[in-house]
Amino acid sequence: DRPPVTVLGLGAMGTALARALLGAGHPVTAWNRTAAKAEPLVELGAARAATPGEAIAAGRLVFACLLDYASVHDVLDDHADALRGRVLVNLTNGTPVQARTFSEWAACHGADYLGGGIMAVPPQIGTPDAFVLYSGSRSAFETSRGALDTFGESHYLGGAPGLAALQDIALLSGMYGMFTGIIHALALVRSEGTPLTEFVPRLDRWLSSMSGWAHAAAHQIDAGDYASDVPSNLGMQAAGFVNLTRAAQEQGVSPELLEPLGALLRRRAADGHGHEDITGIIELLQKGTPA
Ligand code: NDP
Repeated sequence: DRPPVTVLGLGAMGTALARALLGAGHPVTAWNRTAAKAEPLVELGAARAATPGEAIAAGRLVFACLLDYASVHDVLDDHADALRGRVLVNLTNGTPVQARTFSEWAACHGADYLGGGIMAVPPQIGTPDAFVLYSGSRSAFETSRGALDTFGESHYLGGAPGLAALQDIALLSGMYGMFTGIIHALALVRSEGTPLTEFVPRLDRWLSSMSGWAHAAAHQIDAGDYASDVPSNLGMQAAGFVNLTRAAQEQGVSPELLEPLGALLRRRAADGHGHEDITGIIELLQKGTPA
């Protein structure tokens, strides 16, 4: 009961997906623009297709994992008719609007469509560290579930096709926020010549002890109540934040990664919300309705 599958796109991620599918016993037909990238998979038992159309014809379940949505169209536009009656799972990173527009395109061509966002790097595929977000057709998710679970934990978010892309981008935004803080912290410590490997265990410990903050913030924001149960008020944080940018300047480190948050804190405090929690700055970010 391992149905034949097709993988379009054999970059680092597409190759990892194809390997996981082969490892689970699915017959895999693979296609890539640069044909040589299929070699290692052929050695593992995959069939190589000469065109995207030939690859699609070989599997009832078709995965696309390409650079971006422009490349998805480059690959699929001339082979759209082959998709009719097949399940198409697109694991290419994009925006919610791109995901919604592409889901309409796929439906027009008779594909049962599922959009996905991979929350893993290629070496994590097929390990417990990987999880993948999906949204779109529930029937596509259910019929392909066995194959999807070979990549990692499968999270189905609902029928709206843009949901997986939105939450993927939200998770990446959180990650880049963390990268931003880490890089800045390392620049500060390096400015005194301290080996960073000495400092990093402390940074790890501190970030771990703060990691529950997302839960607390979500509760406050869902309740729309920024004023009760405030252990560290925004006015105090806005005042303290000035020291972060000043210390950076004193150490010869650019404060440019930090400054936008400092500006938001000061604006919120000036608007009279200094007694509330820092979570209230979300009100300054949310402008208008989604496109
Ligand atoms: P790679 O750069 O390794 O591979 C890109 C793939 O897209 C290659 O197969 C490439 O073909 C193909 N491609 C690019 N442009 C075109 C085009 N115009 N026509 C046909 N094929 C094209 O990227 P990854 O495999 O790492 O990433 C693939 C997707 O997975 C991306 O959307 C990425 O955001 C997402 N992803 C990647 C993660 C990672 O850590 N790697 C993590 C989570 C998601 P060719 O070999 O011929 O150049």
